Amino acid sequence: MAFKSDIEIAQESTMLPVLELAEKLEISGDYVESYGKYKAKINYNLLKEKESTPDGKLILVTAINPTPAGEGKTTTTVGLGDALTYLGKKTVIALREPSLGPVFGVKGGAAGGGYAQVVPMEDINLHFTGDLHAIGAANNLIAALLDNHIYQGNALDIDVRRITWKRCMDMNDRQLRYINDGLGGKTNGMPREDGFDITVASEIMAILCLSSDLDDLKKRVERIIVGYNRNGEPVTAGQLKAQGAVAALLKDALKPNLVQTLEHTPSFIHGGPFANIAHGCNSVMATKMALKLGDYVVTEAGFGADLGAEKFLDIKCRLSGLEPDAVVIVATVRALKSHGGVAKADLNQENLEALKQGLPNLLKHVENITVHFGLPAVVAINRFPTDTLAEVQLIEEECKKLGVNVALSEVWEKGGAGGVKLAEEVLKLVDESKNFTFAYDINLGLKEKITAIATKIYGADGVDFIGSSAKDIENIESIGYRNIPVCMAKTQYSLSDDQKKLGRPTGFRISIRSVKVSAGAGFAVALTGDIMTMPGLPKVPAAESIDVDNTGKISGLF
Ligand code: ADP
Ligand code: MG
Repeated sequence: MAFKSDIEIAQESTMLPVLELAEKLEISGDYVESYGKYKAKINYNLLKEKESTPDGKLILVTAINPTPAGEGKTTTTVGLGDALTYLGKKTVIALREPSLGPVFGVKGGAAGGGYAQVVPMEDINLHFTGDLHAIGAANNLIAALLDNHIYQGNALDIDVRRITWKRCMDMNDRQLRYINDGLGGKTNGMPREDGFDITVASEIMAILCLSSDLDDLKKRVERIIVGYNRNGEPVTAGQLKAQGAVAALLKDALKPNLVQTLEHTPSFIHGGPFANIAHGCNSVMATKMALKLGDYVVTEAGFGADLGAEKFLDIKCRLSGLEPDAVVIVATVRALKSHGGVAKADLNQENLEALKQGLPNLLKHVENITVHFGLPAVVAINRFPTDTLAEVQLIEEECKKLGVNVALSEVWEKGGAGGVKLAEEVLKLVDESKNFTFAYDINLGLKEKITAIATKIYGADGVDFIGSSAKDIENIESIGYRNIPVCMAKTQYSLSDDQKKLGRPTGFRISIRSVKVSAGAGFAVALTGDIMTMPGLPKVPAAESIDVDNTGKISGLF
């Protein structure tokens, strides 16, 4: 059977004008800033007006450790939102905004798939409302101020070998990872080694996503550490007097973007920080706005639950006071078989033995959410056309045997109607009692916090602080950043820090090589290895298949 591509399905849909969508949500027209007919920014002052409105229920969608087989968290988030709408519930979705890097690289779009998508998908995946460009400009303004400061006499005595702030661009462009700039003689700047990150890896993105308003954003920008002086003391963006202009550049980017699903469920798509060196979920502001406008809010965290959900809970929720009422853990037959050792080429064949072998990965994530975080959870089996009935039944049976809630989700193929079972399960869970706790106490030292995550959430025996990490931690704690959450930068493919250890590994330790502080965002980043903050394009980039005809209709985006 041939399936329509995501973009074909999206282009066949009829969208409601965004003003109608805002009206349905009872957002006063004063707060709605249209970007064309189908996109709008919603002014943050709405949050002040709604301060006393009770919040809806928050549902977090996360997953098992990702595999090349694909899991479908965004697809499930959108489909579950539509299923709740289908059941007559006032539902709002909150998602991250895509980056051009993956769109033109391997991954394609990030607006869901099949009949569970947000639209207009071409706009969402390309320039959308310009937030990423604004973030890039804000990031690069700080870089320009920094180098200008050095050029103009370097009153702050910045050590040019210890500049940590990089320039950024929203593109996968490995050519810019390491560069020499300031070349060309005395009048053209101070020559130094420099480099670019992709925009979503900029600390500005993380800050935008954690800020509660413009004042908070300004304070965070002020705290950003851009490098160190020759005494080894941190130099901040505040010392460069950057915060006012940076906030001015970001005043509209801070406003959540409203769009809709194929079935007209209102959706906020706002902010998209990297899920390794940052926390990997949409803005606090969008989630909060969604909770004021909907009785049910479905949102997604990046990567698997060991990274995405852990950071959603320990960083985003902790810093903003949010608390989910239920968690959906997405698993697929294909990915579980992959955890059971099946090669990508053989995933289309039924293999019950491998499926069973892969299940412990899922069960560890269920244990983390229900036992360690104390939240009600349900496993969503995201059904692919290649899954056999016996395979789907095996997961259901094994989960039920262990008392794990489970529901089949067919939203990719059927839209909201295919997610009714999952939605009904979620509606039950959100009213269950919960006992939410973080993975660690914020007042512990950074080493203890990292160890708590590694042992509880990853199932490691312990942590080795190698390379510069012990010294880094000492330095970070000594400059006043001890009582902050930890953002783990580890491979997403394994519960361990070795991407080849699939399933549920045991008897391993985690190695922390270096630790840095994102003082503006408000967390310390613990790196288990080298993390790529400027990806490259693959041998055959997705960009080669993307086109636009003379009427402006885009094709080949997936
Ligand atoms: P994630 O958010 O976990 O990265 P997505 O929801 O973006 O995953 O899905 C990744 C890709 O897999 C998309 O191209 C989507 O269309 C496809 N996909 C997701 N679920 C299914 C499914 N049930 N059947 C077929 N393809 C699917
Ligand atoms: Mg996704």
